[in-house]
Amino acid sequence: MPNFANNPDRSSWLHVDSQSDFPIQNIPFGVFLTRDDIITIGTRIGDTAIDLGALHQLGYFDGIPLTDDIFLQDNLNDFIADGRQTWRAVRNRIAELFDDNNPALKTNVKHKEIVLFRLDEIEMQLPVQIGDYTDFYASKEHATNVGTMFRGKDNALMPNWLHLPVGYHGRSSSIISSGIPIRRPKGQTLPPGAESPVYGASKAVDFELEMAFITTDANDLGDSIPIEEAESYIFGLVLFNDWSARDIQRWEYVPLGPFLGKNFASSISPWIVTLDALEPFRVESPKQSPTPLEYLQYKGKKSFDINLEVAIKPEHHKETIVSRSNFKYMYWNMAQQLAHHSVNGCPVNAGDMMGSGTISGPTPDSYGSMLELSWKGEKPLQLSDGSERKFINDNDTVILRGHSIKEGLRIGFGEVRTKLLPSH
Ligand code: CA
Repeated sequence: MPNFANNPDRSSWLHVDSQSDFPIQNIPFGVFLTRDDIITIGTRIGDTAIDLGALHQLGYFDGIPLTDDIFLQDNLNDFIADGRQTWRAVRNRIAELFDDNNPALKTNVKHKEIVLFRLDEIEMQLPVQIGDYTDFYASKEHATNVGTMFRGKDNALMPNWLHLPVGYHGRSSSIISSGIPIRRPKGQTLPPGAESPVYGASKAVDFELEMAFITTDANDLGDSIPIEEAESYIFGLVLFNDWSARDIQRWEYVPLGPFLGKNFASSISPWIVTLDALEPFRVESPKQSPTPLEYLQYKGKKSFDINLEVAIKPEHHKETIVSRSNFKYMYWNMAQQLAHHSVNGCPVNAGDMMGSGTISGPTPDSYGSMLELSWKGEKPLQLSDGSERKFINDNDTVILRGHSIKEGLRIGFGEVRTKLLPSH
C-alpha cells in the first residue's frame, strides 16, 4: 500500500504552527481520556487531538477492515497487532480527511464538535500495554564512556560489544507516561572507600536519553526474524527516559547486569510516531568494524536523523538544556537489534518495547546521561539559575524532546517530562 500520508505538499484545514512537531504528515497514535471521561485512541494534528473512536463510529473509516471497537480501547495493542497494511490505510485516510482540499469533515460542524479536542481537554495515557521491555546498549560513545569510568580505558568496551547489540530484559511494570512524577529510589549502595554496603535513598539519580520502538507480532517461538524483514514489525517510536540510580547500579551490576538501579521507573512520550512517518529522515548508520556476522548484515539506510535534547528544570526556575544528541549516532540500528533479539527463536509480540540504550554523541555536550555529562560527578554542570548538578536533585523536572527536520518538513515527538520527588 502506498504511503501517501507522507505527501509533503499536503496542508490541513486544522491550524498547525510552523514549529509544530505534529503537521498533517506526522499522524502519530496515542490514547487519551476525553473531556467526557471516555478513553479513546486518537491522533494529533497541530494542537488538536482527534478522537479516532468517534471518527470510526461516524463512518469515516468505511472500507478499511477494522473491528467496530478497535479504537475504543485503553491501549493500542490490538490496532498494532493488525499490522502494517492497516496502520498505513488508517494514516492515509486521516491524511485525506484533514486535507485542506477535502470538505467532508471540514464543513461538518456537528461532527467536528464530536471528534476534535483541545489539548487542555484531554489527558494522555500510556499508549501501549507493554508486555515485554528490552533495553539495548547500542551507542558506542555511551558504552565507551561508561566502560572507561567503571573499568578503565583499556577495558572500556567488552570483547563482545562490537559483535552484537548488547541488551538486557527490563521490567514493564514501571514504565510510565509523560507527566507522572517519580520518587527517588532507595536501595543498597557501597559508599566510596567503604567495605560494607549501606541502605538509603540513592544519591545519584540520573536520566538516560533514549528512544524506544514498539513492535507488532513478529515471530513464533523457535523462529527468527530475518534482518531484511525486521523493520516491517516496528510500529513506531517514542522518546524514552530510562531513569537510573548510578550508586545502586554500580554496586549490584556484576555479574548479571542492571537490576534495581534501573527498574524503578522509565518514562515515555505519549504519542507513538510511526516508522512510516519517519521515512523521509533515513540516514546511513555508523560504519561497523569489524563487519558483523551475516545475520546482522543489512542493506540500505537503517538509521534515522532525529535531533534529541535534554533539559533540567529546577522547581522555581526555568529550564536549562544540558545535552543535544541524535538518534543517528546509534552503532547498532533497530533492524539489527530486532534480528539479534530473535536469532535464538525468542518471540516478539505486539506491544513489546525495545529501548535503544543511552544515545551519546561524540562531543561532551552530546552525552545522554548525567553520569557522562558530569563525568561521574567530577565536573558538575551549571544550570541557568546558578545552581550545580552532578546528578538530578529532588523536585527537578527532566524533559526530553526530539524531532526530525528536512526540507522544511518537521516531524517530532513532543516531549517526555518527569519530576523527581524526594524519597519517602
Ligand atoms: Ca537504559
